[in-house]
Amino acid sequence: MAGRRYTSQPATRALTPTGGFLKGFAYSLNPYVGCGFGAGGGCPFCYVRMLPVARAQQGGWGEWVIAKSNLADLLEKELGALERAGRLDAVTVFMSSATDPYQGIERRLKLSRRALERFSRYRIRRLLVQTRSPLVERDLDLLRALGSSLIVSITLETDDESVRRAITPTSASVERRLLTCARLRAAGIFVQVAIAPMMPNQPARFAELVAKVSDRVVLDTYFDGDGASGRRSRALGMEELYERLGYARWFQPGAERELLATLQSRMGHGRVLFSRAGFNAV
Ligand code: SF4
Repeated sequence: MAGRRYTSQPATRALTPTGGFLKGFAYSLNPYVGCGFGAGGGCPFCYVRMLPVARAQQGGWGEWVIAKSNLADLLEKELGALERAGRLDAVTVFMSSATDPYQGIERRLKLSRRALERFSRYRIRRLLVQTRSPLVERDLDLLRALGSSLIVSITLETDDESVRRAITPTSASVERRLLTCARLRAAGIFVQVAIAPMMPNQPARFAELVAKVSDRVVLDTYFDGDGASGRRSRALGMEELYERLGYARWFQPGAERELLATLQSRMGHGRVLFSRAGFNAV
């Protein structure tokens, strides 16, 4: 996007102890500060833009991205220290909680790829790679090498391409993301589909599509997943946006029930997780 500002800065640490929503994981790993998927009206629900680290930057959410230039070196040191302390087996990492590790700039900078190289040398108990980007396929060689320690979680909020275009225009199409899931799964990688936040959909069709390409699903809503019973999402204008688009009935507590029940019936309860507990299923 024209006008987007990319800078790079050294960070003080690679692995950040988690708390709050993701406290089932010991650490989060964010190779970037900011996220290009938020540009041009992409991801209007993203509450990372409300956090102090984002508010401190000039320009709207998505218009700036800061790369952590020394991420790989820091990660090497931190994983080395955990190995010497005999703690690698207990380490669980969520990559990423406040950015997308496979946003466009990753194509050139390869910070996420370099992080995966470190994880392939220092095997931890669980690495979860959370992304909405088909670019993750580039690193199939490293992902495959991580074996059973890895979950790749692909965000797919709807099966309806018109909804995708209206609410997440910067994201790859529904079809393209389903293809990514299928390719990763065919390579033996454990694939989770994150329907988060759930957007208007056709439950039977959506359940059928994700059942074919994933090992499990985690479903989340604006009301359960924003950490404030929907208040954060309302503050971001999601209720108005849904009304404007004619989706008002989907911005209601309980709107997820039909999809949840359909997924459970199609995939079995054990493969369908919900909200916070689901995201923390390490
Ligand atoms: S991809 Fe994730 S972090 Fe990036 S703007 Fe969208 S919701 Fe926010």
